[in-house]
Amino acid sequence: MAKQETVEHKYVYAFAEGNKDLKELLGGKGANLAEMTNLGLPVPPGFTITTEACKAYLVTGEEPDGLADQIAAHVASLEQAMGKRLGDPEDPLLVSVRSGAKFSMPGMMETVLNVGLNDRSVQGLARQASGADAQTSGGADRFAWDSYRRLIQMFGKTVCEVPGEEFEHALDDAKRAKGTHDDLDLDADDLRGLVDAYKKIFFKHTGREFPQEPREQLDLAIRAVFESWNAERAVLYRRQERIPADLGTAVNVVAMVFGNLGPDSGTGVAFTRDPASGAQGIYGDYLANAQGEDVVAGIRNTVPLQELERLDKKSYDELLGIMARLEGHYKDLCDIEFTIERGKLWMLQTRVGKRTAAAAFVIAGQLVDEGLIDLDEALHRVNGAQLAQLMFPRFRLDHEFQPVAKGIGASPGAASGKVVFTSARAVELAAEGESVILVRRETNPDDLNGMIAAQGILTSRGGKTSHAAVVARGMGKTCVSGADEIEVNVPQRRFVVGGQTVVEGDVVSIDGTTGKVYLGEVPVMPSEVVQYFEGSLDPEHVDNPLVRAVHRIMSHADGRRRLAVRTNADTGADAARARRFGAEGIGLCRTEHMFLGDRRELVERLILARDNTEREAALAALLPLQRADFEEIFREMDGMPVTVRLIDPPLHEFLPPLEQLAVNVAVAQERGEDVAQEEALLAAVRRMHEENPMLGLRGVRLGLVIPGLFAMQVRAIAEAAVTVTRSGAVARPEIMVPLVGAVQELETVRAEAEKIIAEVVGDSGVEVLIGTMIEVPRAALTAGQIAEAAQFFSFGTNDLTQMGWGFSRDDVEGAFFWRYLELGIFGISPFESIDRDGVGRLVRIAAEEGRAARPELKLGVCGEHGGDPESVHFFHEVGLDYVSCSPFRVPVARLEAGRAAVETDGSDSR
Ligand code: ADP
Ligand code: MG
Ligand code: MG
Repeated sequence: MAKQETVEHKYVYAFAEGNKDLKELLGGKGANLAEMTNLGLPVPPGFTITTEACKAYLVTGEEPDGLADQIAAHVASLEQAMGKRLGDPEDPLLVSVRSGAKFSMPGMMETVLNVGLNDRSVQGLARQASGADAQTSGGADRFAWDSYRRLIQMFGKTVCEVPGEEFEHALDDAKRAKGTHDDLDLDADDLRGLVDAYKKIFFKHTGREFPQEPREQLDLAIRAVFESWNAERAVLYRRQERIPADLGTAVNVVAMVFGNLGPDSGTGVAFTRDPASGAQGIYGDYLANAQGEDVVAGIRNTVPLQELERLDKKSYDELLGIMARLEGHYKDLCDIEFTIERGKLWMLQTRVGKRTAAAAFVIAGQLVDEGLIDLDEALHRVNGAQLAQLMFPRFRLDHEFQPVAKGIGASPGAASGKVVFTSARAVELAAEGESVILVRRETNPDDLNGMIAAQGILTSRGGKTSHAAVVARGMGKTCVSGADEIEVNVPQRRFVVGGQTVVEGDVVSIDGTTGKVYLGEVPVMPSEVVQYFEGSLDPEHVDNPLVRAVHRIMSHADGRRRLAVRTNADTGADAARARRFGAEGIGLCRTEHMFLGDRRELVERLILARDNTEREAALAALLPLQRADFEEIFREMDGMPVTVRLIDPPLHEFLPPLEQLAVNVAVAQERGEDVAQEEALLAAVRRMHEENPMLGLRGVRLGLVIPGLFAMQVRAIAEAAVTVTRSGAVARPEIMVPLVGAVQELETVRAEAEKIIAEVVGDSGVEVLIGTMIEVPRAALTAGQIAEAAQFFSFGTNDLTQMGWGFSRDDVEGAFFWRYLELGIFGISPFESIDRDGVGRLVRIAAEEGRAARPELKLGVCGEHGGDPESVHFFHEVGLDYVSCSPFRVPVARLEAGRAAVETDGSDSR
């Protein structure tokens, strides 16, 4: 588009000159108005001032050279097309001045209607409106004065920053004086009076009269739209939605058409399909005798669009025809704004409409059936975040449950529990086995323990980046934030909502997807999509459009993706579930839990061993237990690779906490009991205490320090593999050494492991791979050396992020991440979505240098990023072989891996 040499100086496009692909230059609204114009649809004439003009203005604070003249030329064409002149006292041309950026930013920026009216032309407008039809002349006066008061109100508020409430109050006063609640009851005289009141308000706040010169009105309104790009709320919104800050907005100047000319006029909004369920049909609202913004503002009650058939059959039929045409043209769900002026239909806006997660899948499936798009395109139009939403448990909502409040769905899920107001009480009750909902005005880092203990979190303040929201999402915990109908009183341990009082211990239910809050316990059930993944809903036979669409699109994703998807699973049960969800192996089997429970005692013996014999005895006792664990998993994953990570956390994590032990010893001594054993344990705990355990004696370091520990694990893995293989299944173990930073560490472990494996495996046919995690930055940077000793790499992106940023995850998420998000230091937590520039660069370097040293090196990722949509795309780009994630994320990763393949390899049906 920047190819034409004239573009640089062309700041204004008539609608007929644009098209839908020029969103960057003309904004979404302008590009689509142009598209509709060129389709021959009834769009009022107008023109678009480009985002480039806006950007130039924002840099210099002045309109760029040539803009004023170009606007004048386009106004002149508009006047000619309409047969009216701007400011003509007899028959004025009126225009709207509308913002419209590349991405829709609902409610963020500004529109001014009825520009061009002044004290004289308002009379002309009234005369024109009454026109041939003398009997409506009373109505015509009313219409003209109503339009004028709207102009002063919108202009005052948007262009001159007059507080909007002042106009609202004046309007309320007028209605009160008339004894009505409906502004339709105000007649021409009332509205003339209101115009006077508005002008006084305008003067009071600006120190000047309301501008009478139409071109000045127009220029000021255009400036105001430019400036609204940098309004605080727009800046915040962009940060939250990760919309680039430098796009600028376009400005659309559109000839006014009037829905407020009487009962045969009106205005409405509509969707071409149900944006909630995706069902085909007519969905919309209509308001007779009103101007556009009334519908959205909810000033009066709208009627369902179907009513229009009765009110104005001709316009209704035409509208339906246009909606069908738009869908066929955009090949997607569209939403539209329209106005009817005395029986004549006008299209004022269209765009590809927003929709729920369920509707996204259903509509994509329908459009394939209708032959409008192919399956690649259908896959492109849904995403993993939507699929994840469809997998959260649902409330089973019977009609008796009505929400008492609605906040922001900050972290999805469905949670019920007893209300608590303090972190301490949450911890107490949770320890008794109760499920609790922590209710606060807003949370802060001191609430962290309570948030961990709670089933869900409910706050009355704060948005999607508030502390509560961020921390809850990080923990995967249900959260509703900013439910402002709720009045929380922490000292009295109660909250009030809609006149009802809820005290500590009462049960509430919160839906983190919809943001709705219910009193009492709403029962939950697994979603249909999960039932389908679990195999209990057969997509071929169930009459459920959502399940059928999900099945179809998932199958296509599986056919397209290059990344394999494995799961993180430590038990046979997790492995089995993940397999049903489509996992093709285990990418991370942690062995830590195998040292817990009644096995703790063996670990204590291992740590307290005074000599080799004692230590070997402890290890020998652990061996069969570990072997049994692995056998179960290998059996479950028959034929698929299973990556087992040797023990990673510091050993003292398996011992009792220091304070507790110290108290026990003291009490026992007091009683004169024999405490030799406890004292030894206490001494060991003291000895092993670390200031920074995350950076201490763990992972491969532990294996190199405690003789026989890794050897025992390797033997258990190899023996389990041989047993399973001998029984007729296929075990494919991959032994993974954690926390390696230097090739020498890996070489030492590997030499010992290979000896054991050779001895155990014999001629059983079992093949055991040995590889390493890449989770220390040094490992990533020396990947070429490490690859000499490794058959595979698995990126541990959690640790790589911690060590790459120098963040201790447990400390930072509660302490300051919310602030970093607020400041836009990052748009999303680097633990949630991989930081492409920093941590991602380490991954890229390691992948390239590792493969250069050993071309057959297998590459995977096993951090939580393996199930994050954005990160999956990154891992596809970098060329990894697989991602591994928790069982529940497996379908999300499959879907996103398919999308990544379609997007990079290009199909391209768009
Ligand atoms: P938003 O982006 O907030 O929807 P719009 O620019 O679409 O703002 O305008 C707000 C309202 O004014 C809409 O309902 C729209 O249909 C109406 N409107 C805008 N321009 C005109 C016009 N030229 N004639 C009649 N109504 C208009
Ligand atoms: Mg609009
Ligand atoms: Mg790690």
